[in-house]
Amino acid sequence: MSSAYMDNNATTRVDPRVLETILPYFSEYYGNPSSMHSFGGDVGKRLEEARASVQALLGVEHDSEIIFTSCGTESDNTAILSALAIQPSRREIITSVVEHPAILSLCDHLERHEGYKVHYIPVDRLGRISMEAYAAALSEQVAIVSMMYANNETGTIFPVETMARMAKEKGALFHTDAVQAVGKIALNMQESAIDMLSLSGHKLHAPKGIGALYVRRGTRYRPMLRGGHQERGRRAGTENTTGIIALGLAADMALEHMEYENTVVRALRDRLEAGILAQVPYAFANGDPEHRLPNTSSISFEYIEGEAILMLLSRVGIAASSGSACTSGSLEPSHVLRAMDIPYTAAHGTIRFSLSRETTEAEVDWVIAQTPPIVEQLRRLSPYWGANGPILTDNAFAPVYA
Ligand code: PLP
Repeated sequence: MSSAYMDNNATTRVDPRVLETILPYFSEYYGNPSSMHSFGGDVGKRLEEARASVQALLGVEHDSEIIFTSCGTESDNTAILSALAIQPSRREIITSVVEHPAILSLCDHLERHEGYKVHYIPVDRLGRISMEAYAAALSEQVAIVSMMYANNETGTIFPVETMARMAKEKGALFHTDAVQAVGKIALNMQESAIDMLSLSGHKLHAPKGIGALYVRRGTRYRPMLRGGHQERGRRAGTENTTGIIALGLAADMALEHMEYENTVVRALRDRLEAGILAQVPYAFANGDPEHRLPNTSSISFEYIEGEAILMLLSRVGIAASSGSACTSGSLEPSHVLRAMDIPYTAAHGTIRFSLSRETTEAEVDWVIAQTPPIVEQLRRLSPYWGANGPILTDNAFAPVYA
């Protein structure tokens, strides 16, 4: 049986070259980079090389603008908390309804327990941000705007540069969660209005547990972790040396593959999407067709459950993810799909396929061959499906493309 890993937005495989490079830093050069003796080997130097690699990937001029963290979540939390701490008179935050929980859950906490006002900007049916609502929410009370660069579920890309310039006019800081964008979209922070940007190693073929936060030079900053003087006192804690070295190499490789990602991977994604949609009625792709990550395809299969699709896909070796989060026994569609107003019967049956530079044509063809019969099989069992197709006429469940 073939298999296909189509869940790269959840996490990627550590590139074998990355793994090989870091192994000696567990077993031979395991010293603390702050120590004077030779067990640290050249590790301090390797950390600075890694920083230069991350700088190159983001188009960052100064090494002091990159802070290594433990993950995307830490970078996101640090950016927002820092912005609030340095501007105590500004008590408002702007974000979007479709952010990752790394942002939404912190905003919820700040709203409930710290008295901040949070503006959640809505999106339309294609996941595009409402620029009118954004402009209306911006004011001199806003300390920070945090808008994701690209959505993890649909791949929709926000116009973050325009939004950052608008924030600047009101004196607000602008942060972007670029965890899904880094390595897939060419970035140049030197020509950007973005003040802070988060990234995560495990989304670009480095291990889990390493991330980075870009902080533009001149931006006032308050650390979240206090302790030793690591990262120039801006993120205390002994460095995750293997993670940082891995992230550096992964950044070099992401830069090398940027073109490939936007041509070959994009073509594979398009082939996958078209191949499935051509065979399956009552199915459609989600997200902004014009501004979308090259590797992501979110497909709604109406009248069936995403979890059931995933289970059957998994039986034939296909790993994908659903747009639904299973909470306390009730299956709720994801907040992203609900915010986009995707009808319930479609949102429930949404599957995200996310590719990477490691995805092969054979894997894509396997998914194209396996998915349609699985959908058909499940529809035969669906209470919403009759001998001649969907049986519901109720508006709430009306098919979008009937
Ligand atoms: N932000 C986005 C958009 C993500 O997709 C993720 C991970 O899924 C994160 C943040 C969190 O990153 P990490 O797992 O490194 O904390």
